[in-house]
Order: sequence, then structure tokens, then C-alpha cells
Amino acid sequence: MTAAIIDGKAIAARVREEVRGRVAELAGRGVAPGLAVVLVGADPASQIYVRHKHKAAGEVGVISFDHSLPASISEAELLELVARLGADPRVHGILVQLPLPGHIDATRVLDAVPPEKDVDGLHPDNIGRLVQARPRFVAATPKGIMRLLAESGAPLRGARAVVVGRSNIVGKPMALLLTNASATVTVCHSQTRDLPAEVASADVLVAALGRPGAIRGEWIKPGATVIDVGTTRGDDGKLRGDVEFAVARERAAAITPVPGGVGPMTIASLLENVAQAAS
Ligand code: NAP
Repeated sequence: MTAAIIDGKAIAARVREEVRGRVAELAGRGVAPGLAVVLVGADPASQIYVRHKHKAAGEVGVISFDHSLPASISEAELLELVARLGADPRVHGILVQLPLPGHIDATRVLDAVPPEKDVDGLHPDNIGRLVQARPRFVAATPKGIMRLLAESGAPLRGARAVVVGRSNIVGKPMALLLTNASATVTVCHSQTRDLPAEVASADVLVAALGRPGAIRGEWIKPGATVIDVGTTRGDDGKLRGDVEFAVARERAAAITPVPGGVGPMTIASLLENVAQAAS
């Protein structure tokens, strides 16, 4: 079997069109959705992500406010900015680009974002709502993956889903979304005893380790749906996923490529969250 490719680029383009429609509708009611993007320091990868977010926002009619700050900014100053943005009626969503410099407590800053403007879905209030299956904002990457799964037609109810990775931004919310969709979910991490066996049990596999090629193609259950979140840039400048793609593709029913799979969906889902916040 050669797997169908789940085309994240094409699906993300459709999602962005949907958002553009919602933004136009909001404009008709006199609401201009606004997203504040806070970037601290000059991490090159973060600068690229933030640039993409501003560009994508502009393309769907979301106003983005750029708050690029020097790495030397104090935690108190950053908290003051977040409080100001929290009170600013033009700002419907606040995004604090991670990682933050070491002298700033990222948890304290993320907790200071008002939950109703937390379009990254990282505030404990939003995670708690997801736990209780009454979500407000869901982190963009797992939210986008749920859309990819829906578009791929993979049945989730009763399916065995395996999530590799337990970060707050990907693995944990992913596991909660799959649980809420009535999959039977296993979460794996660096201490998991027998990763190949866990992966081999998955009807739906979400790989979010950040270790290129760590999920061997021969582990994949025949007919599985494989979502590869990993994006690691190699010395050759190319992005590599966590799944050994060529072999996995011969076993899976459907698989996301890297690049062109999960990545484009993340920004599209963020924009959906901004439109939702403005609504
Ligand atoms: P992270 O915070 O570093 O988490 C990685 C997770 O993988 C951890 O839970 C870790 O386990 C687990 N892990 C590491 N090595 C493992 C191993 N050998 N076996 C099993 N589990 C292992 O990373 P993240 O932020 O979730 O991101 C994961 C990947 O997704 C990265 O490549 C990142 O660049 C990518 N990403 C892509 C997008 C996108 O839009 N495409 C968005 C977000 C992230 P422990 O908890 O035990 O340490």
C-alpha cells in the first residue's frame, strides 16, 4: 500500500479562506480582528515564525501589532506590556513567541495573558477547559491536526491513537483532543519502555518528538494514519520530520509530508483562533 498524502498546504489554504470570510463578516459589524505578536530577543527561527504570522494575518485581513523587544527586557516590563495588551480593545488575541530568554519565567508571562485573548491556548484556564471537553482556545498545532484528520477521513471514534511527545504546546493538547473525539489514546515520551510496540499499535499516530527519522517506517501499523509534527532543520537547510517517510509511506493509509503537512495548518489554525476571539 502506498499512503495518500495529506496535503496540509491545500487544506490550510481552505482554512485561511474560511477565516477571510469570517473577518469580512466581522468587518461588516464594525469589528477589526487584531492580533498582538510579542517577540523577545533575536532568535532567528522565532523571527521567521513571527514574520510568517504577521504576513498570514495581513492576508486574511487580521490586523497584527508587532511588539519586537530586546532580549534585555526585564520580566516586569514584559508583564507590563502583556497587561497593556490585555486591556487594549483593538487587540483580540495575544501571542507570546516562545522560547523566552532564560531570565524571564515563561510560565508567569503566559499565565498573565487573559484567557479570552489567549489564542495560543496555553493558559491553564484554556487547557483546563479542554480537559473538561468544553474548549475555548485550542493550541494551533493540535487544532490544525484535528482538521487534517477530519479531512483525511480517518475514523477516530474507538480508534487506537498514539501520541509521541507530551509537551504543553503539542503532545498534551493533542492527546486531550483525541480523547474528546473518543479515540483510545496512549501518550509516549522519552521514558516510554517499548516505543516500537506502542507505535505499532496505532491506528492514528501523531509524532511530535523533534528527532528526525526517530519513528522507523517498519514500526507503522499497515493502514495507519500518520501525522508528522516534527520539523528539524538539517545542516543542508532542509526540514526533516520525525517519521522515516519513505518506508512509512509504503505501510500507512495516509501520511503528512514534511514540509507541507502540519506546518501550514498551524498558522491557519492560529488565525481561526483570532477570528474566534474577535467574534
Ligand atoms: P518538546 O517540547 O521538545 O517535546 C518533545 C517531546 O518528545 C517530549 O515530551 C519528549 O519526552 C519526547 N521525546 C523526546 N525524545 C523521545 C524519544 N526518543 N522517544 C519518545 N519520546 C521522546 O517539543 P515540541 O515543542 O512538542 O515539538 C516537537 C516537534 O514538533 C519539534 O520538532 C518541533 O519543531 C515541532 N513542532 C512543529 C510545529 C509545526 O507547526 N509544524 C509546531 C510545534 C512544534 P520527555 O517529555 O520525556 O522529555
